Amino acid sequence: MSECLFCRIISGEIAGNVVYRDEQLTAFRDINPQAPTHVLIVPNEHLTSTAEMGQQQVPLMGRIVQVAAELARQEGLQAGGYRLVVNTGPDAGQSVGHFHLHLLGGRRMGWPPG
Ligand code: 5GP
Ligand code: ZN
Repeated sequence: MSECLFCRIISGEIAGNVVYRDEQLTAFRDINPQAPTHVLIVPNEHLTSTAEMGQQQVPLMGRIVQVAAELARQEGLQAGGYRLVVNTGPDAGQSVGHFHLHLLGGRRMGWPPG
């Protein structure tokens, strides 16, 4: 049994509001949404963060962004736009140690981020 929260959601051991799943990745709604649409896209295989990323993950990362764009279309975010965010490590506020791309949209956002 994995101790990683997102590995447990991916395996179905913990219920997650899954919106997309394929052999490589899973997308589910954030439990504490920061925007009307807040979806997390994660690799099925455990990867802690971009700090662990190597050449082997390059196609996977492209696929994750492609699925994020597809989900954004499905969520009706095409016109208003959206934000894709990856937090790596403590300074960025990464709170779950399984790589995830945030898809956020449905409201106007500020810049710079907090
Ligand atoms: P981070 O801060 O690491 O970039 O993002 C972690 C995200 O995971 C947060 O937005 C948080 O709300 C979300 N999260 C934490 N625990 C759970 C959970 O059990 N289920 C879901 N769906 N999201 C979670
Ligand atoms: Zn994991």
